[in-house]
Amino acid sequence: MIEKILIANRGEIALRIQRACRELGIKTVAVHSEADRELKHVLLADESVCIGPAASRDSYLHIPSIISAAEVTDTVAIHPGYGFLSENADFAERVERSGFVFIGPKPETIRLMGDKVSAIRAMQQAGVPCVPGSDGPLDSNTKRTLELARDIGYPVIIKAAGGGGGRGMRVVHSDATLLNAISLTKAEAAAAFGNDVVYMEKYLENPRHVEFQVLADNYGNAIHLGERDCSMQRRHQKVVEEAPAPGITPEQRTFIGERCAAACAKVGYRGVGTFEFLYQDGEFYFIEMNTRVQVEHPVTEMITGVDIVKEQILVASGERLRYRQEDIAWRGHAVECRLNAEHPETFRPSPGRIEEFHAPGGPGIRIDTHIYAGYVVPPYYDSMIGKLVAHGEDRQAALSRMCNALRETVIEGIDTNIPLHRQIMKDAAFQQGGANIHYLEKKLGM
Ligand code: ADP
Repeated sequence: MIEKILIANRGEIALRIQRACRELGIKTVAVHSEADRELKHVLLADESVCIGPAASRDSYLHIPSIISAAEVTDTVAIHPGYGFLSENADFAERVERSGFVFIGPKPETIRLMGDKVSAIRAMQQAGVPCVPGSDGPLDSNTKRTLELARDIGYPVIIKAAGGGGGRGMRVVHSDATLLNAISLTKAEAAAAFGNDVVYMEKYLENPRHVEFQVLADNYGNAIHLGERDCSMQRRHQKVVEEAPAPGITPEQRTFIGERCAAACAKVGYRGVGTFEFLYQDGEFYFIEMNTRVQVEHPVTEMITGVDIVKEQILVASGERLRYRQEDIAWRGHAVECRLNAEHPETFRPSPGRIEEFHAPGGPGIRIDTHIYAGYVVPPYYDSMIGKLVAHGEDRQAALSRMCNALRETVIEGIDTNIPLHRQIMKDAAFQQGGANIHYLEKKLGM
């Protein structure tokens, strides 16, 4: 068993990982920037190391500082959380070469999945349904490219193989703009990701975002924990997530889930991961895999009872998966609201001192947050300050508990998006379930 874990992250996920470590009897090392001395998990850690100034590139993204901190603290394993270095194959490699355990997949798996062209190819070979498209990079044969777009049928989307964070994509509606759009996307991708490879996919006009959680160990065992619906998005950022996804049948869950698990076994996947799909007209289309724990993992934990972070750590320490597929049962419904320090209408970030904080409670309520009264939200990082999760025996019960919890939550001194969440919970289309990925932006008049 791993004795000590360095948590290479901050905020709520660092605290979440620390809690899992405590339950497993593992000591924790918190690394933090100069701006984050008062973070809750830093104050609670067995040891803490300041790794640099506030700017992420000089601290949370600075690989040598993190490795040195691991060395001086006799760390055994490094947990990257989400964001920052979590999907950086070079980091995973450096961690392993320095003699530490990387809590995540093998570096080559991160690399395979980080390149969308190779990821799609691997998924096709494993029988996971993908979006109709170019099945590989676009080359300089313009005649063939034009034919391909007509065969797929407009609109199409040009995407960068190395893209991420919703960048490096362009929708094309006709022959007239296709070639120009390809050159522009290539140039942007070269500048932003250092890789000008682009590919083409059918553009789905009204899809939902439905993703599958998987768990895999080092011995070829892989299972799925069902799906989440994350269609409530603004600027490709998820705002509300839920599990299960409304309207998905047990047969669909088994069919897609088993394909995801089989794909994990096929590529030698290790740890936790998420297969992201677009879902439209009853069909699933794979778009990418996230090779890390996700922000929205709690909704799956609430309905399956599986502690995803604990399993991730156990698998990384060499244990076999403790669950078989037939052990997984889904109970009730869970919804998560991402709490952001931002104005609920203008979305302007709102850093500053939290004067008052009262957490909600009651049956089925979970709050994952690092904030406390007196904590100062720094201006340097993502504006998410926590996640509020509600579980109930069915969707309506979960939403009703969420409404109560939002009403009970008091955060004073900064602006938060709680009023927006109250509005979403009352929205008729959201209440009905199954709104698509454009719904929230349309509602907000964007
Ligand atoms: P990133 O790695 O940047 O998040 P994704 O491949 O996950 O890129 O795509 C991000 C978002 O772009 C999707 O959630 C969806 O909204 C949109 N998108 C991507 N591919 C398509 C497609 N083929 N059709 C319609 N929308 C798409």
